[in-house]
Amino acid sequence: MFIETNMLYYRAMRHARLLLPGAAALFFIASTMPSSALAGLNPDSRVQMGLDAREDVQETANDADDDDREWRRSRSLGGEAEDDLTIPILIGVEVNDLVDTWGDARSNGRTHEGIDIMAPRGSLIVSPTNAVVAKIGTYGLGGKYVYTNNPGGERFYFAHLDGYADGLREGQRLNRGDLIGYVGNTGNAAGGPTHLHFTIYKRGAHNPYPRLTRTFNTRDRVEALSSQLTMVENAPDRLALAQTYVSRYGNVFREAQADRVRLPALVTLLMDSSTVRVATGRTSGTVSPHFTRDLELGDTGSDVTVLQEFLITTATGDAALSLQRTGATGYFGPLTERALAEYQHAADISPAIGYLGPLTRAHIQTG
Ligand SMILES: [Zn+2]
Repeated sequence: MFIETNMLYYRAMRHARLLLPGAAALFFIASTMPSSALAGLNPDSRVQMGLDAREDVQETANDADDDDREWRRSRSLGGEAEDDLTIPILIGVEVNDLVDTWGDARSNGRTHEGIDIMAPRGSLIVSPTNAVVAKIGTYGLGGKYVYTNNPGGERFYFAHLDGYADGLREGQRLNRGDLIGYVGNTGNAAGGPTHLHFTIYKRGAHNPYPRLTRTFNTRDRVEALSSQLTMVENAPDRLALAQTYVSRYGNVFREAQADRVRLPALVTLLMDSSTVRVATGRTSGTVSPHFTRDLELGDTGSDVTVLQEFLITTATGDAALSLQRTGATGYFGPLTERALAEYQHAADISPAIGYLGPLTRAHIQTG
């Protein structure tokens, strides 16, 4: 009883703040969307955009109830439902950005069963609780969607995804903060602004809005981004992803640095190099990974760690495999020298003697 009263209070407070007619939402969208997306932002298209996936939900939920063994098995996911949920967008959406769109009118006399969380394309959708992936699919209304089973017998529905997390599969266990997919506008959201449609099911649909009272903190955010980087085995892809993260989430990393949260070495190096670029007036918005100095036997530093990680993930020979067992230490020892020489030999860089000079640096940067 106490909790419910509390929630109503929160809800009322948020309504009060959002009564300025949609101003907060418009500002949020305007500040994060490409201008082409703004063209669709009028009351009519908002209704179209927000058409929910109610039929889809009913259909697949029944399927799953009857046939899906994973769903049954994971239905026992223990614990109580969490009253206060974390907004399932890792970065970029604050509690005050949310607008309660539950019950809004939709086409064919339907009402909206869920909340539409506005976010730029590609924003990271993560699990707000520990969970199990119950169902992954595509449907006309919901587009690319994912259902998860959550504590307390609840089931969460994420729709209109641009894409799924790499390797996401039904039955997979998720920790709080693990990636589910990317914000998009698939299904009947096509052509409208990108957003996440989110609904909670337990014997019917429930409005998530009053419960979305928290966001992931800086440490959670950095941890989630780091684990995404770790999962990319191919070195050039990993550099490219780190590059994207640094240009997109630089503020999160800077906050983390201020809070003394440890950052992945690759991110630290890229941040340093982006600072250099900004300082020299090259603010093109892209950050290119580069070593700011030559490296050789005896050097130490975070750039040595990055080089070692690169050699380990590229793994061109025996020395790289030995280095993998030792791990990236930040000290340029004989093993690093041999691994670098192997890389140079494989890449046809001469002399292949394990000295990181301009030629090898350029080669690593361009993949
Ligand atoms: Zn919706």
